[in-house]
Amino acid sequence: MSIPPLDFDPSTVSLPQGHFIGGKHYLTDEPQIAVYRPSDGRLLGYVADAGENTIDHAVSSAVRALKTSGWATRSPRERAKVLTRWADLIDRNAVSLAQLEAVGSTRPVAEAYASDVPFTAEAIRFFAELADKLGGDFAATRHDSVGFVASEPYGVIGAITPWNFPLSMCSWKCGPALAAGNAVVLKPSEMTPFSTMRLAELAIEAGMPPGIFNVVNGRGATAGAAITRHPDISKVSFTGSTRTGAAIMSDAALHGTKPVTLELGGKSPQLVFEQVPDLAHTARCIARGFTSNGGQVCVAGTRLIAHKRIVEPLLEAVQRHLAEIAPGPLWRSTTSYSPIINRDQAERIAFLVDESRASGAELIFGGGCFEGTDGGYFHRPTLLANVTESTPAVRQELFGPVLTVQAFEDEDEGIALAAHPTYGLCAGVHTRDIGQAMRAMRRIAAGTVWINRYGRSGDMIIPTGGFKQSGIGKDLGRQALEANMRYKSVLIDFDRM
Ligand code: NAD
Repeated sequence: MSIPPLDFDPSTVSLPQGHFIGGKHYLTDEPQIAVYRPSDGRLLGYVADAGENTIDHAVSSAVRALKTSGWATRSPRERAKVLTRWADLIDRNAVSLAQLEAVGSTRPVAEAYASDVPFTAEAIRFFAELADKLGGDFAATRHDSVGFVASEPYGVIGAITPWNFPLSMCSWKCGPALAAGNAVVLKPSEMTPFSTMRLAELAIEAGMPPGIFNVVNGRGATAGAAITRHPDISKVSFTGSTRTGAAIMSDAALHGTKPVTLELGGKSPQLVFEQVPDLAHTARCIARGFTSNGGQVCVAGTRLIAHKRIVEPLLEAVQRHLAEIAPGPLWRSTTSYSPIINRDQAERIAFLVDESRASGAELIFGGGCFEGTDGGYFHRPTLLANVTESTPAVRQELFGPVLTVQAFEDEDEGIALAAHPTYGLCAGVHTRDIGQAMRAMRRIAAGTVWINRYGRSGDMIIPTGGFKQSGIGKDLGRQALEANMRYKSVLIDFDRM
């Protein structure tokens, strides 16, 4: 299949305005938040900062739409038709969506086109296909009664998403929530709001009843918190930092004891045993695992833990990959490396690298940002050796392209080093020994373990979610659809009828 021209002039991209409520743009005179282009730090545009009235209007629209549209009560296959049309429209608008994502987030246009947009469409399509495939629990009861478990949508789900993959994150939240028959009020990150708004426009074009999917813009502490606390929001589905996740959990507990799904931060290990099947492939996995999207990926593999006899050749091969990485404007289709989202975040990464060095870590590659990047903060891929479990870069999620390196002597030590006191999102295990791979898989406390690979595939049936402070519950997979439904137990004594 031929690839259409993707290069574009960033000043020509038009931005959706206001909020998207009740099936249309909703303009207010609320304070505006400036949004910047991560690629060069220039002003991109403004979004409204929703106050409580706007959140209330969005939630009321969703409640009204549920009452009047029949979205929740129609058959799942009918909802699936709308969702499938939505996914098809996303595919059909791949170029403009990829360009909107590239101008307003850290995603290079070619990657957004080749991966973010099709993954977004596929996630929605997956939940459309799954919509009528669950259910069927019939209980073993007395012979004159019938017991079963009926699933129902919650009502209005509040969704809050981060800035690092705006399109995909929206689909991971909306796909299962809408397939299950809920309405959604979603707040994207105030740093990357525009592509989510475009998805909402396409949902209406696909035939989604107005008010079933609403997008509100605004800051987390105000607009985000107002969603969590709203009395008509029945469940909150959040992706973002562990710190914000804790605040949301607390808010949800205090304002209605609401269930939450929390997809949070990580500090994932890449554990490489002596017997790797293919050193070149493993090196590629390590390099990509911590540099993809400039390291701003929740599942980034940022701790290399390698057997002492393999660590040197492995690092040489990893560094060969890193030496090829170069920054470039995100609107050029040849760019494949991402900038840091903004200056504050670039400074935080630099601070944590400095702190790590002050505590004894050795900088063996990279450090600092590339120069001559026209205002963007493209952090160099960075390797830190001589680290311990108390080094800041080992303990904390930097959300940047920084890999710490630790060597081990035997299997027990390697697996012990892979454990993290706070996080348990993912782990990579590289070995030719299946027994060793399975032992490591069992012993590492992480929501996902990749063996001889690193990173998600397009298999939406495989859920994602963390252990420990990396989160609660799952996105994607059957589990995500189930998590967007509540279950009612029914027992009928039919002899009394
Ligand atoms: P963040 O927690 O700062 O913000 C995420 C969202 O929460 C934003 O929309 C923000 O406005 C909102 N928010 C902030 N405070 C809030 C509050 N008190 N109440 C309600 N909403 C609030 O995260 P970020 O910087 O946007 O994203 C990066 C983080 O997301 C990283 O920690 C990364 O690991 C995590 N992440 C996790 C996954 C996953 O699947 N586990 C995926 C992507 C990103």
